[in-house]
Amino acid sequence: MSERSLSIGWDCDDVLIPFIYPAVEHYNLTYNADVDVAHFYDGPEHWGVDDLSIAAGRVQVYMRDKIVNSPQDFINPNPDAVEVVHSLSRVHRQFIITGRSDFMQPMTNEMVDTHFADKFYKIIHTNHFDEHISRTKGSVCLEESADVLVDDGLLHCESAVEEGEVEVALLLDEPWNRDRTLHPKIIRCANLWVVREEIQKIARS
Ligand SMILES: [Mg+2]
Repeated sequence: MSERSLSIGWDCDDVLIPFIYPAVEHYNLTYNADVDVAHFYDGPEHWGVDDLSIAAGRVQVYMRDKIVNSPQDFINPNPDAVEVVHSLSRVHRQFIITGRSDFMQPMTNEMVDTHFADKFYKIIHTNHFDEHISRTKGSVCLEESADVLVDDGLLHCESAVEEGEVEVALLLDEPWNRDRTLHPKIIRCANLWVVREEIQKIARS
């Protein structure tokens, strides 16, 4: 059966490469905190601070430290992601759309050059945590005429279907994205193999 070639936007952290679990583990050890990964995107009370900017600053310190001391943690992706992206690249156009800040660009580029060479036609950093320069993923999906967004962030999936006009947003199931009813165009996927199946279904529709 013939498949349509789709434009697919891929989130980076916790889709292509693990981030939240190690970041929260480090945070809890370093700041004697008890943050639950389910509340990664929630208010300061879940981070044991008065202002969320304090927690965000600490996570940024963790990331900058990792760039210097263990950059491989930002370069070695989930092996399933490598396989799925490579197999989809035979039919589809793919790009990375990450909420990461611009200072992470060298890490993102190195991961792509090492493990996804020629698989992504573009890499976009939306600076999600910097309100002065951030862009919504929906606005980028619209600009790129994306058909599908793959993301673990419910907010980003909502932005992609509402503002970005994607056909479908595929939400990778995680403890931090289970607190709201899903928009009808958002499909929860248990893992990246289910993501691939859903993309193939859309391509054949
Ligand atoms: Mg993510």
